[in-house]
Amino acid sequence: MKKSSQPSLLNNSEQKAALPCDHIPIRPGNFVADRIFLAKGSMTTPERVRFVERICALYPEAQLVECPDTPHNRIDLREQDNLARHQKGKHTLVFGEHKSAVRFSAEEGNACPNYWHFSPYGFCFYGCKYCYLAGTPSYWHSPAVRIFLNLEEILERIERVANQANMPTAFYLGKLQDGLALDPLTGFSGVQVPFFAQHKFARQVILTKTGQVEQLLKLDHNQHTILSWSLNPPELSERFEENVPTIAERLEAMKQCAEHGYPVRAIIMPLIPVKGWEKIYGGFVERLLESVPIQRLTLGGICIYQNAKALMEMKLGKGNNISQSLDPRSKIGDGRIRYAQPLRLEMYGHIVRTARKLRPDLELALCLEETKAWKELGIEDRMGHCNCLL
Ligand code: SF4
Repeated sequence: MKKSSQPSLLNNSEQKAALPCDHIPIRPGNFVADRIFLAKGSMTTPERVRFVERICALYPEAQLVECPDTPHNRIDLREQDNLARHQKGKHTLVFGEHKSAVRFSAEEGNACPNYWHFSPYGFCFYGCKYCYLAGTPSYWHSPAVRIFLNLEEILERIERVANQANMPTAFYLGKLQDGLALDPLTGFSGVQVPFFAQHKFARQVILTKTGQVEQLLKLDHNQHTILSWSLNPPELSERFEENVPTIAERLEAMKQCAEHGYPVRAIIMPLIPVKGWEKIYGGFVERLLESVPIQRLTLGGICIYQNAKALMEMKLGKGNNISQSLDPRSKIGDGRIRYAQPLRLEMYGHIVRTARKLRPDLELALCLEETKAWKELGIEDRMGHCNCLL
């Protein structure tokens, strides 16, 4: 690969990627912090101390725990019961630093290409009952919401990777967190969006369920920030997602961002095969496409590992619609449990046909699927252009 001679944006005094200390933090609508941990790296510079203190001041009721020798992923919530620990984590905020926050994914056994992703945050405070992330080792043992303060270092790494790639390269924020849920608190978008806007090669793709986008509407993004919303029909969101912005709030946020010129995408995942799903999803896709000029729609079924499934069943019972439709024989090479392939193809096919009628130009993609599914839907020429990538 060729090395770029592009000057560093981070050395440019007008484009400093330090913490947004002039941002006035706002409590995100759905987040209540009972305990705040000041973990390793959170208080090591005067700038970090000021930044953390301003956020802590918004939660005077929270218990403050200083643990400067404990890394962010070793916070012990002192709760043995798996469900109770998970619920406690949703009300626990950890400040720390993440030294390997920019990573290349290591997907195997499905049609997804690997991609760069980054983590100024870890986990999230929303309560989706099907959450796959809750079952991953780090958030299973220490399921707290995390804010990483080494943002400058994270963007420096992105800059190095993008310059080395010497071509437009996506960096995805949403694999190990919600990408914007904590933004009203941190104001990180005020640093990230200008950084990517001015970069020749680096682009960010953010996945979120937020309804709070005021901060984004003030920023010049140069279309180098792509915003993607995770959606499901309202009647299913109400049943399977707790403590999240409503679908109407998300659609409104998408609309505002699209009007402000951001490229906007949607991902409907997991599709949930409840009785009458054809009508429910068909109607919802029509509503989505009529209300927001999205560029790309990505679809996916449930793709879940054992721990996340166990947690989901503690919340919903074993008879829930997702569990009842899982087919253990449908594991493809990546080991995740899915719905049976005929059901997945039927659901994708129905939505693709509905979408195509309204928007023949709409880019369509699948998430964590097999090559065969792309082919059956006639969209194999789009493989590699899904939600996490350009
Ligand atoms: S938004 Fe994503 S990470 Fe957060 S609870 Fe829902 S599925 Fe999990």
